[in-house]
Amino acid sequence: MNAAQRFRRIADIPADATCRCCPAPGVRLHSQIVYCEMHYRIRQMRNCARSRAKAIPDLRLLEAMADSLMRAGMVCQDCGKTMTWLIVENKRADQVTLQHYRDGRFGLVCGTCNVKHGHLPGDMFLTLPPEHKRCPQCSEVKPLADYPSKGKPHFSWCRACKTRRTLEARRRNPERDLAVRRARYAYLKSIGQLPPKPCQSKAAKAARKALREAATQERAQ
Ligand SMILES: [Zn+2]
Ligand SMILES: [Zn+2]
Ligand SMILES: [Zn+2]
Repeated sequence: MNAAQRFRRIADIPADATCRCCPAPGVRLHSQIVYCEMHYRIRQMRNCARSRAKAIPDLRLLEAMADSLMRAGMVCQDCGKTMTWLIVENKRADQVTLQHYRDGRFGLVCGTCNVKHGHLPGDMFLTLPPEHKRCPQCSEVKPLADYPSKGKPHFSWCRACKTRRTLEARRRNPERDLAVRRARYAYLKSIGQLPPKPCQSKAAKAARKALREAATQERAQ
């Protein structure tokens, strides 16, 4: 332990430096004092709780929770993701965060789960059925298939809410809507991928064919 040693920059920390609170290697500085990854993050989490006027868990309690977390392989207890004490490669969502459950308990969960806890009423995300999401607009829980997803991640609003918003926006600003449609038409035409006209669509052709066949049958009778 090296409580007396102080360093100005992370680069100044000697390779054999240990944490102020435990024998783990010291990798981060706070007030020029060396901390290991875990104790540095514990400090951050307690300070964050303080600045947000939330309950601050006892240091010993947090250390015990961190200890069991590491023995369990740094796995988020809510989603099973492997977490890190510090932000690695900008993946803030994988960092360990302090979760204040509504029943007063504390937990160490990943950043993603922490955000979900905050957004979903009553910690309901723990009881959400698999492949389901809650739409923040209409507050309904719907299967993932009801959420638009052109790329990979699903849109946060459900399809019905998103469609309603799009239609409202078009109604509010018809000129812009027309301009967007014209630009889209010009683009599709330039790359030769215009959709068939309504009268040439498969459905329309099938309908005409059915009409013709019905007429032929009538004549035959
Ligand atoms: Zn430590
Ligand atoms: Zn999680
Ligand atoms: Zn919705």
